[in-house]
Amino acid sequence: FPSSHPTYEDFKAQRPPVAGPNSHERINATFVTLARNSDTWDIARSIRTVEDRFNRNYNYDWVFLNDGEFSDDFKKLTTALVSGNTFYGRIPKEHWSFPEWIDQDKAAEVREDMGRRKIIYGDSVSYRHMCRYESGFFFRHPLMLNYEYYWRVEPSIELFCDVPTDPFRFMKENNKKYSFVISLYEYIDTIPTLWDSVKSFMKKHPEHIAEDNAMEFISEDGGETYNKCHFWSNFEIGSLEWLRSQQYLDYFNSLDHDGGFFYERWGDAPVHSIAASLMLKKDEIHFFNDIAYYHVPFTHCPTTEQTRLDLRCHCKPEDNFDWKGYSCTNRWFDITKMQKPEGWNDQQ
Ligand code: GDP
Ligand code: MN
Repeated sequence: FPSSHPTYEDFKAQRPPVAGPNSHERINATFVTLARNSDTWDIARSIRTVEDRFNRNYNYDWVFLNDGEFSDDFKKLTTALVSGNTFYGRIPKEHWSFPEWIDQDKAAEVREDMGRRKIIYGDSVSYRHMCRYESGFFFRHPLMLNYEYYWRVEPSIELFCDVPTDPFRFMKENNKKYSFVISLYEYIDTIPTLWDSVKSFMKKHPEHIAEDNAMEFISEDGGETYNKCHFWSNFEIGSLEWLRSQQYLDYFNSLDHDGGFFYERWGDAPVHSIAASLMLKKDEIHFFNDIAYYHVPFTHCPTTEQTRLDLRCHCKPEDNFDWKGYSCTNRWFDITKMQKPEGWNDQQ
């Protein structure tokens, strides 16, 4: 008799093969999630929503990464929920620790000070490692090397509409390298010197700055100052090959040496967003209006009623963040000269 508590290996061995080959041809892409064992039930909800709205028809792979060891319970549950193949990776110590050039005492003082000032995650070491890992390393994990595109999924997200066509295929066929659903202003206290660091990178590597880039999205004075706009990176569909390019790696290394992941609390969202805005062409960045999304506390819900009905959406239109004052999506539409949907100004 099989044990009533199978190990992950037992479970994997007896699990029927995934429904396949289905009518949709996949491209070379994967979901990717960074998580801890304590995230088990919250990531389960995210997987369920992604499967129901999209992946049950495609069976894309899912890679899970962790600085610790995933438990059997985490692996069994997530493998049971994902329709594609699942892979579990341990993050090497060198990618989740302080680089040797960081002054530990200075970093500790900063955490204490930011904690006192109640800056969100300001006192956390692990959050800083997480932000640095998502900024510079996840795409180089051995499990990620064979894929061309990724879709990042965090715990406790929700998708509100059917995903009508394969976003990975859309990215590939339309030469898109980075995408977003929600954009907003960053808290300045977490990144006071990030823009100085970016400016010094631009000086060192003018060859990496794209023509027809989206500088206007992130600066209102031609690059003198940062307006704090960024794409919210808890959702991302992007090109792994771009992140692995010399241009992106030079950018990350330059920022990393300036120390702000530890001496401040630089988030991977502004780090990715600034990279995309400066080093990609504007039209290599895509706004996925059709992917209705929630991560606490913001929602993207398509503005147009016909879209919501066609895609069987269950989000409340008035929750849509796109046109609210704290969103940068209005600015994105302006600088890319995209037509705003009818009714956008009633949702401000
Ligand atoms: P928030 O969305 O900025 O509030 O941050 P989250 O708590 O959602 O963390 C962002 C992502 O990193 C999520 O996918 C988390 O599961 C993951 N994460 C955060 N901290 C750690 C950690 O210390 N270890 C691991 N393995 N994952 C982490
Ligand atoms: Mn999150």
